[in-house]
Amino acid sequence: MRKKIVTGNWKMNTNTDEGKNLIKSISDGLEMVYMPPELEVIVAPPYPYLPIIRQEIPTKLAHALKLSAQDCHVNLKGAFTGDVSAPMLKDIGCDYVILGHSERRKYSGETSKYIKPKVERVLENNMKVIYCCGETLGERKGGKLFEIIKDQIVEGLFYLSPEAFSDIVIAYEPVWAIGTGVTATPAQAEEMHLFLRQLLAEQYGDVIANDTSILYGGSVKPANAKELFSQANVDGGLVGGASLKGEAFVDIIKAIV
Ligand code: PGA
Repeated sequence: MRKKIVTGNWKMNTNTDEGKNLIKSISDGLEMVYMPPELEVIVAPPYPYLPIIRQEIPTKLAHALKLSAQDCHVNLKGAFTGDVSAPMLKDIGCDYVILGHSERRKYSGETSKYIKPKVERVLENNMKVIYCCGETLGERKGGKLFEIIKDQIVEGLFYLSPEAFSDIVIAYEPVWAIGTGVTATPAQAEEMHLFLRQLLAEQYGDVIANDTSILYGGSVKPANAKELFSQANVDGGLVGGASLKGEAFVDIIKAIV
């Protein structure tokens, strides 16, 4: 059975105290929630706080509350000032790495081709990838929606072997819905998630397609989470703004159980 996943992407927010308070509030909240075995909650703090947050995750929640980085470099080590490599992230206890987030594509000019070796580095280092794809409003209005998403997936992921693909989670995040308060309707999300699952089935077969978790991201909040998560092909969420408040994030998790 494929996993249900709710990921909190803290982006460039929090300091030490704020991060500790946030993870405490999430952990306390989760202790009151029934966590089915197929549910995984992931937090993605900024790089400097990853080891601190790792330590704050209570042992009894460690099986269900995982740690993710927000990016990594394409190389394993060397003269790349300011960058962080996949082995470093593994070393400090990361389970996942988010790759290809639209903010990285937009502000750092990352393309799917550029992201491809990052995917390999993360998998080689025994972590899992949350691979983001999404279209801009112009691309959607211009009727290029499915073409754009297909290109991002094919270029970034479809060279992987079927075995490697089991460590991939896909996040569909329409760029026009990120941080804007505008959410894709459940029908829009489901339409794209179904398209993505069919794409996976064509490439890797039904078993892998059915086992791959596909998350929706873009202004997910407690008020819309239940309806989004109730769609047949929406397996959870990648949550930005609302993941910075423990109570709201736990309410979003409750919407999936
Ligand atoms: P948002 O961000 O929930 O603030 O829209 C989602 C994301 O960028 O992953």
